Amino acid sequence: MSAERVFVGLGANLGDAQTTLAAALQELAGLRDTRLVAVSSFYRSAPVQAQGPDFVNAVAELATTLEPPALLQALQEIEQIHGRERPYHHAPRTLDLDLLLYGQRVVHEAGLTLPHPRLHERAFVLQPLRELAPELVMPGLGTVAAWAACATGQPIEKLSAE
Ligand code: ADP
Ligand code: MG
Repeated sequence: MSAERVFVGLGANLGDAQTTLAAALQELAGLRDTRLVAVSSFYRSAPVQAQGPDFVNAVAELATTLEPPALLQALQEIEQIHGRERPYHHAPRTLDLDLLLYGQRVVHEAGLTLPHPRLHERAFVLQPLRELAPELVMPGLGTVAAWAACATGQPIEKLSAE
């Protein structure tokens, strides 16, 4: 089976968020049947529909043969390692891992929607994703660059090149 091109969004806004993201990237690199291909810069963004301190965000590109449900489960296990609790929707979180895009797959299942349903409206996803894949077409939506150009007005600041 050939590996699919997959993008994962990382976010954290509790504790030492940059250290948490760096650790999560190592854990993504260590997933079975998966290769960490590229990592965006880290960004700082104000919470959108969430609470607490500013977020640190990044996007990782993976090449994997894990199917989407197995990959999502693996992402949730990494969230658990970092002590993620879900006391309520949009609560502050030590680590949030979202499966943004899985090749050109479109999925509408109870626990999994692809592309990620809020991907195209969030600057904190689109800016780092644009670094890695500006011309990528998001199924049913259009290119990353076109959507990123629309998501202005959401405060976001580049922290560092990783
Ligand atoms: P959010 O990331 O939107 O702030 P959560 O991380 O708490 O909220 O939401 C996780 C829930 O979203 C999980 O129960 C998961 O099954 C569901 N979900 C659906 N599609 C996706 C996706 N593409 N990536 C991550 N989680 C998803
Ligand atoms: Mg999530």
